[in-house]
Amino acid sequence: MLTFDGHIDTLMYMLHSGKSLADADGHVSLDKLCRGRVSAQIFAVFVEPAFYQGMALHRGLEMVDLFWRMLEEYPEVLVYAGSGSEIREIHQAGKIACLLGVEGGEVLQGSLAHLRTLHRLGVRVLTLTWNYRNALANGQAEGSACGGLSPFGRDVVREMNRLRMLIDISHLNEPGFWEVLELSEAPVIASHSCARALRDHPRNLTDEQIRALAEKGGVIGVNFCPSFLTDRDVADLDDVLDHIEHFIAVGGEDCVGLGSDFDGIDATPTGLDNCSVLPAIAQGLAQRGFSSELIDKVMGQNFLRIAQRVLG
Ligand SMILES: [Zn+2]
Repeated sequence: MLTFDGHIDTLMYMLHSGKSLADADGHVSLDKLCRGRVSAQIFAVFVEPAFYQGMALHRGLEMVDLFWRMLEEYPEVLVYAGSGSEIREIHQAGKIACLLGVEGGEVLQGSLAHLRTLHRLGVRVLTLTWNYRNALANGQAEGSACGGLSPFGRDVVREMNRLRMLIDISHLNEPGFWEVLELSEAPVIASHSCARALRDHPRNLTDEQIRALAEKGGVIGVNFCPSFLTDRDVADLDDVLDHIEHFIAVGGEDCVGLGSDFDGIDATPTGLDNCSVLPAIAQGLAQRGFSSELIDKVMGQNFLRIAQRVLG
């Protein structure tokens, strides 16, 4: 089975803690990735708002450097993947395919040149916004009245299409979502989002959004953040499975994957404490009567498909 996780914040965790991936004691470590049989992982470069005033690219590049140093440290386990075919090859070789994404267009500091430079440095995914307004668009925390993409945001979408990068609409507000969907020639991802119908949270996608994203061939990684999954104080594995089932019911079986948000969330669902127990999702889906083909799609084949289609 190919297991593909669309979003973790482990680079930030490593930068803050000064720990190596082997020594990391958060949700993700080298050992936990292996025990969880993770095959492909998108590592997010998340720049904290404290760096937005002129230092976002600086901070982002420090994390890009950290990503590459991490790969150099464990060449027998981790291998960089810049395309769908590379993910497939690395998985077949029994190693973990590591993709690099930037979370928050603040890192571009208003320049398409920086987008192209980040692409040359290996970045293949850009989450257009975090929660707030930036030069590209408005994050979900800004609400909908402020509108969608800026002219620069439109240029970024076009340039990402040309460069064959994956556009990530998690965190984006609704007007921005609809404009990206209309403008982008390629299908897009929501790397770490849940379903609004099950939990009314602004970070989650409405059924209309799920349907439209799926119709264009997009994929949504279900987020494990308890407050995105449920109104209750505590979430469990069944809540994650419920969101997966809902995505399938609304958008079809090709639109859902995993986007744990490990090391970016304060709490985890019971039974999904860290990435070493990801196989519990496949087991849970099997217990709910899912076919093995459908389980494969949810666990990783859907993300692999869109990576292959967009990245090549
Ligand atoms: Zn996020």
